[in-house]
Amino acid sequence: MALDFTEYFEKYEAIVAEVDAVFKKFETEMPDLVKCGKGCSDCCYALFDVTLVEAMYINAKFNEKFSGMERSAILDRADKADRQIHKLKRKVFKASQEGRPVNDILLEVAKARVRCPMLDDNDLCSIYESRPITCRLYGVPTSIGGEAHTCNKTGFKGGEKYPTVNMDIILDRLLAIGKEIQTGVGSRFRELGEMLLPVSMAIVTEYDETYLGVGEKTNLRETSPEEEDKPREIIAPAAAKGPGKSAACASCTESKSSCETCGESIVLGGKE
Ligand code: SF4
Repeated sequence: MALDFTEYFEKYEAIVAEVDAVFKKFETEMPDLVKCGKGCSDCCYALFDVTLVEAMYINAKFNEKFSGMERSAILDRADKADRQIHKLKRKVFKASQEGRPVNDILLEVAKARVRCPMLDDNDLCSIYESRPITCRLYGVPTSIGGEAHTCNKTGFKGGEKYPTVNMDIILDRLLAIGKEIQTGVGSRFRELGEMLLPVSMAIVTEYDETYLGVGEKTNLRETSPEEEDKPREIIAPAAAKGPGKSAACASCTESKSSCETCGESIVLGGKE
């Protein structure tokens, strides 16, 4: 029997709706600073991973929408992107093994340009309605692990204070859905819900019982407790959770410097 992921997808769509509302608020309140628009594809060359629920969601939408030549062309592009990402991840791994400072490595990763396979020949997103949350928020200030970022094509300036979307909280919520999937399908993979993968991989993967660790045989290895103790891949976004933060914080666009719960920097380009 085919696995039914509807309840998880609905939860994911609820987060997407919140994220879109937050972006809309930025657009309405700071129209001169938010520059996202048709024809700009800067974010489509950035290197980022998606969580399990996003990967499965994108995969389902991709399968619904594409067939024939168009599908083959996207899969070819995904293969090319995957090879580039794999090479880059190996380079990052080697650099971390050699003891290079993490910030240097992250800076290099941030500068890397890999064209997203979903970007079509006209520089438009082929899954725009189903695009990941990272893409939906790329043009407004976000923070990961207390560090603020924004796309350099926007009007938001480094060193200035702005309302900032806390990506750690959004990531926690997405990972929580991943854990629910893991439990819901009865997976024996203890790290399944924490998986992070690039869009290129998300669309080519088949999320069947074998992959999810439901059946006897599998192509995804089980993790040992020792492996669980190892640090997560450096490219993956950190899932840091601040004490006492609620889910509502993720969609809050108020100044965090005035919020006792968040108490985080909202200065672009560094901590306060
Ligand atoms: S999914 Fe769409 S919006 Fe996101 S990076 Fe790929 S092409 Fe760009």
